[in-house]
Amino acid sequence: MASIHLQNIEKRYGGFVGVQNMSLEIADEEFLVLLGPSGCGKTTTMRMIAGLELPTGGKIVIGGEEMTEIDARDRDVAMVFQGYALYPNMSIYENIRFPLRMRGVPASEHDARIRQAADMVELGGFLDRKPGALSGGQRQRAALARAVVRQPQVFLMDEPLSNLDAKLRQSMRVQIKHMQRQLKVTTVYVTHDQIEAMTLADRIVIMNKGAIQQVGTPDQIYSDPANTFVAGFIGSPPMNLIEGTAQNGTFVAPGVTAPCPEYVRGKVTLGVRPEDCHVGGDNVQGMVYGVEPTGDTTYLTVLAGTKKIEVKAAREYRSDIDVPVAIHFDPAHLYFFGEDGQRIRG
Ligand code: ATP
Repeated sequence: MASIHLQNIEKRYGGFVGVQNMSLEIADEEFLVLLGPSGCGKTTTMRMIAGLELPTGGKIVIGGEEMTEIDARDRDVAMVFQGYALYPNMSIYENIRFPLRMRGVPASEHDARIRQAADMVELGGFLDRKPGALSGGQRQRAALARAVVRQPQVFLMDEPLSNLDAKLRQSMRVQIKHMQRQLKVTTVYVTHDQIEAMTLADRIVIMNKGAIQQVGTPDQIYSDPANTFVAGFIGSPPMNLIEGTAQNGTFVAPGVTAPCPEYVRGKVTLGVRPEDCHVGGDNVQGMVYGVEPTGDTTYLTVLAGTKKIEVKAAREYRSDIDVPVAIHFDPAHLYFFGEDGQRIRG
């Protein structure tokens, strides 16, 4: 069992709080993704789990054992970082073998385990090559094979795909997820890429300024955001957040009116996703600001007052700019947030 419990962990750098009072239970075999903007504390959290950084407060328990102050070498975790850090003078075979030697795994077991790890990432035919003779994606796969070969209790991955081009990232994503499901190793994965988070995670932890904003499955994070930060971070383009006022069941902002529950009152923010906005209707009276056809979707930007509202329009939608346009919101998918940014719930 390799569940991970973070109990009120904190990391201070002098007066600056990098990670504040973070509590989280990661289940055995879970794929957990830490997601957030640059500087939000993702890497620091990961480094504390790895034992590369000591928390200034709180407790870390891995597989039922307290590990807070245990040396990184004595935690059964394997890490993959964005710089692949393969040894350039060793063959891929020797690179993958390295952790087995370090851990004193009997030599008789090496060959089978190296070949199994290499096959898992489809590098079986490249074992004799040096890293310099591999593509970026192949090197990244070799780094993954090196991490899996010793069958750790926990994988920690810090933006492992960020050096790869878009197509390779997609195929590596699928490969990482497949491998994690096969090996059933508890995995913590750090990224600032929401697509990576949504596609890989069993659960996502959204962080901002050192603090957890929300923990949930990708579906929960998408359809039930806790606050404006999460709402504005997830989705492509992200949720429209329109500031206005609400009274007697109606939300009003310049160029925008929408129904709202009676309990939503005063200064509030309306949230509506671009995919829940449709051309033609009576919620927005605005002007066409821009039209971007992308093949399968056309993105329409509407100016309502001074606010730009993003709409995912039909693929065949076309328009000149600076002409009037009306938008309908799907009333079943409207969100309201209070002045503190938190969701208003009935
Ligand atoms: P990125 O996506 O850019 O890697 P991150 O979310 O991983 O960001 P962290 O590296 O965890 O962010 O850093 C969290 C905060 O702690 C940042 O504001 C960073 O500047 C600060 N920080 C990290 N290490 C130190 C340090 N050694 N001394 C002082 N401040 C630090």
